[in-house]
Order: sequence, then structure tokens, then C-alpha cells
Amino acid sequence: MKIPILDLKPQYRAHKEEMSEAIARILESGQFILGPDVKLLEEEVAAYLGVKHAIGVNSGTDALMIGLRAAGIGEGDEVITTPFSFFATAESISNVGAKPIFADIDPKSYNIDPEEIKAKITPQTKGIMPVHLYGRPAEMGPIMDIATEHGLKVIEDCAQSFGARYRGKYTGTMGHVGAFSFFPSKNLGAYGDGGMIVTDDDRVAEMARMLRVHGTKTRYNNRVLGYNSRLDSIQAAILRVKLQYIDGWNGARRKVAQNYNHLLAGVPEIITPEIVEGHVFHQYTIRFTNGKRDRVKEYLASLGIASMVYYPVPQDQLPVYKGQYPPTPTSDLLAGEVLSLPIWPEIESEMMAIVVQGIKEGLEC
Ligand SMILES: *Cc1c(COP(=O)(O)O)cnc(C)c1O
Repeated sequence: MKIPILDLKPQYRAHKEEMSEAIARILESGQFILGPDVKLLEEEVAAYLGVKHAIGVNSGTDALMIGLRAAGIGEGDEVITTPFSFFATAESISNVGAKPIFADIDPKSYNIDPEEIKAKITPQTKGIMPVHLYGRPAEMGPIMDIATEHGLKVIEDCAQSFGARYRGKYTGTMGHVGAFSFFPSKNLGAYGDGGMIVTDDDRVAEMARMLRVHGTKTRYNNRVLGYNSRLDSIQAAILRVKLQYIDGWNGARRKVAQNYNHLLAGVPEIITPEIVEGHVFHQYTIRFTNGKRDRVKEYLASLGIASMVYYPVPQDQLPVYKGQYPPTPTSDLLAGEVLSLPIWPEIESEMMAIVVQGIKEGLEC
């Protein structure tokens, strides 16, 4: 039996008719970009999260970039973020003309360490971009305290955390701006690229709406340099179907994580993830403390079991930034130790047992 890292087919099969109807409705309407379904999705996401504005864009990367610019961050500014994330995080900061500054992570949460943020603040610091990695909310309480004290904007990278909560509040609603990705493999994913910006700030929302359509509110009245970053109607219609089920899917992911933790309990060389309140387990990620991560990954592959390293190279170590930053040792350490296992809401417990058996065998060889 082959076990992939993610299987989207069970979800599609369970909701095939609703999806087909939603897509057919858009094809009949003849309106394919923005339009009524994007507006409705924006209203429904805003209501779900309890936030004033939601703005659909082309991708999570664009949501970060437009979110930064709408929050007033640009040339000469510094934005403190985590080195341990997908490159879109730092790339968005660089692409608006600002400089990413990497603060090391907490090894237990894999997320940015608030104490490390404090140490990186300079007169140029304008913002903080925490990432809720693997679906686990970053320490938003201390992060917002630091931001308030120093007058910084917080742009949350929520690409992996739709529906995750910190002390009861949804990720994306605690900072000044939240940026979501609907890339197909995310825990709320479309059937193509998509993203969303959320904010309670009327001016940020107005600017974001302008930036997604070439910097204009009405046609031929372009006020700033913007982008072509609109959400497609078909993606919005699909996401409106999926939004109704997200809580169930996130709950199922937590159960998968509990089951894996149970199956892996007592394996001495492995650190399993903490199941904190509000974690939605976009990824289920363990650590190998004995240097055998790559060997186990290869052994699993030989059995037809997929596993992934998110992320093998911290952002500051990528060729584009290499040599420009002081070391962040915890991030470097974890890049060599983490392994993400197959997870999706419908994964069967027999599959999880096979994965864990493979890991135990892999550790022996
Ligand atoms: C996926 C991802 C992004 C980028 O989202 P896209 O929709 O692929 O542009 C940004 N940050 C993180 C942490 C991600 O996982």
C-alpha cells in the first residue's frame, strides 16, 4: 500500500455534487474574476473569523505582500520574522522593499520566540510577521504586547492556520493584518491558487482592495502602483462549499495528531508535537534527536510511505540571503531534525499504524 503525504480525494468524493454545482453555477454566470461569489466568500470568512474586512486575492504570497504594503510597510523598514518557514514569508517582506530580520524559534512550538523578537528591535523595525507554523498558533499574547510597546504592525502569516485559535481568538484576527493561503494542500484549500487578507482596520482594507486591482478604486484612476491579484470566482465558489466543513476537518486533524502521538509514545529518539489548544495540525511534525531523520525518511520511502521535511533549509540560509544574517541555532537544529508525516482529515488509523511501524523499523536499521 502506498501512503501519500496528503490525499485530497476523500474530501472531493464526499462533497463532489456540491462542488460540481458550485463550479457549474460560475460557468453559467459568465463572471470569472471577483464577482458575487468572491464578495460572499469575503463576507462569510469575515463572519467566521469575527473580523471586519476580508479581501480575496490571488495567493497567500500576495496576501502577505499586499497586507504589508496596506499596513504601511516598505522601503527601509525592518520586519522581524521567523527563519523557520516557507520562503514566501521572507520573500514578501523583501519584495515590498523592506528587510526581513530573523528571530530564532522556540524548539517546543517551532514558532518565533517572543524573547528573540525583543532582542532584534532597532529604530528601523516597523513590523513583526509571526507564522502559525504547521497550524499551531504563535505566542500572540507576548507578540502583541511587544508590538504595542514599540508601535509595530503585526502581519500574521496564517497560510497554515485557517481556523486555528489562540486563547479563543482566531489566527489572523489578533494582529493588524492576517494573510491566508488557499493553495490546494493547505487545510482550507481551493482547486488552484488563492489567498485572503483580513483586518479590522478600514484604511488597511481600503488600501488592500486598491492594491489588488492595479492601485485604483474606480477604473482609470490609478493612485498607487498595485498588482493584478484578484481571486477567481470558481475558487471562491469552491471555498464557500469547503468553509462549511472546515471545523470538522480541523477537528479530525487534531484526532489524527492524538492518534499519532499515542502510537509514537515511548519511542525514545522521537519528540512528538504538543497538542495545544487551538492547533489545527496543517502538518503533523515530529523530531528525531538521534541524527536518524534522513535514514528513516529513506526507509519509509522504500516502503512507499511519503514524508516531508518542512523546511530543510531555513530562510536565512537560502542562497538569496546566505551570509547576510547572524546565526539562529534553534532553527538550524530543527531543520535537521523535523519530519512531517502523512496527514489529512480522513486518513485511516490502519495507515497511521503502518507509518509508525515503518518509523520504528527505520530507527532499527
Ligand atoms: C503556503 C505558504 C505561503 C504562501 O502561500 P501561497 O498561496 O502558496 O502563495 C506563505 N507562508 C507559508 C507559511 C506557507 O505555508
